[in-house]
Amino acid sequence: MEAILKSNKLLNVCYEIRGPVPEKARQMEEEGYRIIKLNIGNLAPFGFEAPDEVVQDVIRNLPNSAGYVDSKGLFPARKAIMHYTQEKGIADVTVDDIYIGNGASELIVMSMQGLLNNGDEVLVPMPDYPLWTAAVSLAGGTPRHYLCDDANGWLPSLEDIRAKITPRTRAIVVINPNNPTGALYPDDLLKEIVQIARQNKLIIYADEIYDKVLYDGRTHTSLASLADDVLFVTFNGLSKNYRACGYRAGWMVVSGNKKIAKDYIEGLNILATMRLCANVPAQYAIQTALGGYQSINDLVKPGGRLTRQRDLAYELLNSIPGVTCNKPQAALYMFPKLDPKMYPVQDDQQLILELLQEEKVLMVQGTGFNWPQPDHFRMTFLPNLDDLTDALGRVERFLAGYRKR
Ligand code: PLP
Repeated sequence: MEAILKSNKLLNVCYEIRGPVPEKARQMEEEGYRIIKLNIGNLAPFGFEAPDEVVQDVIRNLPNSAGYVDSKGLFPARKAIMHYTQEKGIADVTVDDIYIGNGASELIVMSMQGLLNNGDEVLVPMPDYPLWTAAVSLAGGTPRHYLCDDANGWLPSLEDIRAKITPRTRAIVVINPNNPTGALYPDDLLKEIVQIARQNKLIIYADEIYDKVLYDGRTHTSLASLADDVLFVTFNGLSKNYRACGYRAGWMVVSGNKKIAKDYIEGLNILATMRLCANVPAQYAIQTALGGYQSINDLVKPGGRLTRQRDLAYELLNSIPGVTCNKPQAALYMFPKLDPKMYPVQDDQQLILELLQEEKVLMVQGTGFNWPQPDHFRMTFLPNLDDLTDALGRVERFLAGYRKR
């Protein structure tokens, strides 16, 4: 019988964070091995609990959650998101400009499906959060990766952004705070990006899902607060700031020059209605989360659990010969570099697989984030101090063995 093939639409689509190496880890767990997972920003399994009032709200409202709701989401939830956008200085947002989805992920895919024709180009950071590259490709677009520069605190290179714009470029994606690098972009740079978008008529897709996971007293500026003559689509959600990844509650906000985007917005509305509505129980949590006690601040303050873990991971990584890493200013990740002279890696997926097999530590290879060279990897610093020390001790041992090969 003839083999059943996947759609051609998927030929350029990949998402390696959940690819073959984690699948191997799953098999090893089934065989009874304990794997230390530094591969995804999933907070709950590491004891980072969602705020209790948020959980209680979902429980209390479960009996009222059995029906479909508005495709864009529950009104009180969208109202709370609207107030949040006001707090962040984003002008002129109404509840109609807000779409609630099953996580930001669903909306990222939707936003690209609604925009792109075959061959349209989108500027995506490199390294990126790979869902963006995948979403552009799935929608028939061509991702054009602009450099975020390791040697410059992982800031986007404006020169490279300008160089990659063509007549087919429709949009630029900016992930700030950044996954996988932990960088937080300064206002001057954000303003330059807005200026480039303005000059080249690009839509700005601002992924700001880590906008409260900020260390050392830093503050975050929403790109959409910087202009009203550019179209912005801003993404956020409960997954990270409120440690509720599994609730699948995210949102996107359309703002700025909405006048020119009536047709695109109609497209977004069609896509939102096609999937009827997002998961309702989790939508009940949004108002409480945004308006309640912001317990994330306790985790990121000096001496807070996330800060201590970041500091330890930073120190331990940089003490491994040939490994260098910037100190994350935000988010949950590090993207360390392996000195290619000491570690002449050809295939970083193979390296990460060997680390898993030999030391039972799971990371993600840098090329999984569309980084062009096999000389980086990504890890989270979610495990507690003891587990982090254990995990990075194993990484050190593994790399010492690699140097002797
Ligand atoms: N954007 C970035 C930068 C992320 O790191 C993630 C998840 O890790 C998402 C979006 C997806 O978030 P959600 O859980 O809301 O789908």
